[in-house]
Amino acid sequence: MKIMPNRMDRGFEMYQQEFEDKALQVLRSGWYVLGNEVKSFENEFAQYEGAKHCVGLASGLDALWIAFRVLGIGKGDEVIVQGNTYIASVMGITINGATPIFVEPDEYNNIDASKIEEKITDRTKAILVVHLYGQASNMKPVVELAKKYDLRLVEDCAQSHGACFDGKMTGTFGDIGCFSFYPSKNLGAFGDAGAIVTNDDKIAQDVRIFRNYGSEKRYHNKVVGANSRLDELQAGLLRVRLGHLEELTKEKTSLCERYLKEITNPLIHLPKIREGATTVWHQFVIHCERRDELIQYLNEREIGTIIHYPIPPHLSEAYQYLGMKEGALPITEQYAKEVLSIPLYNGMTEEEQDFVIKCLNEFGKGEGL
Ligand SMILES: *Cc1c(COP(=O)(O)O)cnc(C)c1O
Repeated sequence: MKIMPNRMDRGFEMYQQEFEDKALQVLRSGWYVLGNEVKSFENEFAQYEGAKHCVGLASGLDALWIAFRVLGIGKGDEVIVQGNTYIASVMGITINGATPIFVEPDEYNNIDASKIEEKITDRTKAILVVHLYGQASNMKPVVELAKKYDLRLVEDCAQSHGACFDGKMTGTFGDIGCFSFYPSKNLGAFGDAGAIVTNDDKIAQDVRIFRNYGSEKRYHNKVVGANSRLDELQAGLLRVRLGHLEELTKEKTSLCERYLKEITNPLIHLPKIREGATTVWHQFVIHCERRDELIQYLNEREIGTIIHYPIPPHLSEAYQYLGMKEGALPITEQYAKEVLSIPLYNGMTEEEQDFVIKCLNEFGKGEGL
């Protein structure tokens, strides 16, 4: 039995008829960009999030950089972000010419809020919180710090659709929540798509104008914007998926509860959930000191895994110009060497999960453990 780390085809098959009906409906409508599907999705997603506005965009990266752009954050400004994130979080900052200031993660793989204050300078303009792997970050101290130092607060919710902290949705704690609907995300489209949510009328309007060449009225361009529109087909398909998001999250949660209960190998450190936080289990990420050996062992048994992420942004070639060397962020770098995402997807069968658990529990057996 071959088991892949993710199976997007299963998520499609679960609601195949609904997706196909919607796709045909949009194709036959004759209207493909910025129409009723986008409007309806924006309303439905804003309502789901408990936010006043949602503006659909072309990708999660666009949501991030356009967020900082409309907040006026750019050259000479610093933005605080966790070191162990997907590189797009950092690009959202640097595309605007601003400088990322990295903070080490805590034991929940999210920003260590106790290490933020020491990084705040006169140039600090914002904190970018990433709710990595689907678990909400420690928002209480982050919100307090943003207030105390008058900083903007932006959330990268590309992995946290529906995750809460103290009962409040991620994406609604600060100025802007940025979402990706890349196909593998918990709320995935069938191509690239993204959005921002906000409670601020002006921010929503600015993003709406920016995504469409900076024009509010056709051919009347107020700013040099971008073409970052969510298309009708993706919006329609997202509406179908959004209607099932709660049951999809429930299914992932019960798969992960089983992993938590049944993986008992002392060589494998299971994910922990912070008090007050919920996770929507974008990934099930274990830590293992013998990670690379474990990957090889699982490969031999035809179980695929992924590392999220093997090279931390500060050590990537793209960010050599920041001048950071190995050893600059020891915890982030250690995590890059020991994290591993094991197979997890909607539609995972009991048999598939049995096999993954069995193999994980047998790893390193016979070594006197
Ligand atoms: C996927 C992802 C993004 C980027 O989203 P795209 O839609 O692929 O541009 C940004 N941040 C995080 C944490 C992500 O996982």
